[in-house]
Amino acid sequence: MADKRDYYEVLGVSKTASEDEIKKAYRQLAKKYHPDLNPGNKEAEEKFKEVNEAYEVLSDADKKARYDQFGHAGVDPSYGGGGYGGGFSGGFTDMGDIGDIFNSFFGGGFGGSSRANPNAPRRGQDIETEVTINFIDACNGKEVEINLNRLETCPDCHGTGAAAGSSSETCPDCHGTGQVKVTQRTPFGMISSQKPCTKCGGKGKVITNPCPKCRGNGRVNVSRKISVNIVAGIDDGQTMQVRGQGNAGANGGPNGDLHVLVNVRPDPIFERDGYDIHTEVPITYMQAVLGDEIIVPTIDGKVKYTIPEGTQNGATFRFKGKGVKKINRSDRGDQYVHVNIEVPKNLSKKQKDLLKEFESSLSDANYNKRKNFFDRIKEAFK
Ligand SMILES: [Zn+2]
Ligand SMILES: [Zn+2]
Repeated sequence: MADKRDYYEVLGVSKTASEDEIKKAYRQLAKKYHPDLNPGNKEAEEKFKEVNEAYEVLSDADKKARYDQFGHAGVDPSYGGGGYGGGFSGGFTDMGDIGDIFNSFFGGGFGGSSRANPNAPRRGQDIETEVTINFIDACNGKEVEINLNRLETCPDCHGTGAAAGSSSETCPDCHGTGQVKVTQRTPFGMISSQKPCTKCGGKGKVITNPCPKCRGNGRVNVSRKISVNIVAGIDDGQTMQVRGQGNAGANGGPNGDLHVLVNVRPDPIFERDGYDIHTEVPITYMQAVLGDEIIVPTIDGKVKYTIPEGTQNGATFRFKGKGVKKINRSDRGDQYVHVNIEVPKNLSKKQKDLLKEFESSLSDANYNKRKNFFDRIKEAFK
């Protein structure tokens, strides 16, 4: 249960995916892993279940909203008032001791009683933003400044919503219970029921003298510049979760988180594949023939590398540990250097003659591949 995957990740869609995108992703995956198409394949069966579970939540506006706010804990009844385990495993942040605060109001919030207590602490909503960094910064990690708008606890009233020197008062309509009794005449007689008090919104308290700064809301919209440490090794399209930097909670509830979608600019020299890096290095015909010391760019800077005599076009050399640092680990991927022979163009008559003279001095012993190729053809058309 604790290693339950993020539902968005399961469907391979972003957190901002539309209803249609979610549906489309689900259809594709459901088809791919359908048990009828993968008879006897346990892994496909598990995936099929996982995909269905994710879709069941993300296709339901209500469940989706709860999942977005509370993770798996918000939609999985088996979490009850207890753990919140895998709900936040998607991010890179450790949720630490927030669980206690959660659990303290969780039981009453969902599933438990039929009506939520409007005075219960509520966790602030998560907010999402994105940032674009260059390739090298993604490899090494970088502290970035992010401008965002978020709700913060009102500094004037400290979240109470009441103007300085005043406080909220017991609601005169419901006498602090937050509920009013409504009696209706029906064909079966008089029926009484409880309804949330409209005067106080069910809070049992009214603010007669609202704080002018937040107009009684207790929270205000603030533009902030915050710095975020982008983890070394992050890849294009990954999201970092920054704990507690979302909207302020209400009634003493914890802040939401900030999700930072990281876009990485493509690099003209380095191409990433997982934690490995691929680089193409042009070499001359002569370097390929005679071998040479060439300069190879790595993300740590330029290094010298000796290519052997007779290096073929497209030959690949592996630089162990010169790839991208793995997230939250100390080791790195590898770099693959692919050499690409540049054929010289615009030769003078003299250069062409020299080359022809050189070529005529060569024999089959110098052209292994070519000889084998033509031998095979001869064999085939005998
Ligand atoms: Zn205020
Ligand atoms: Zn009331």
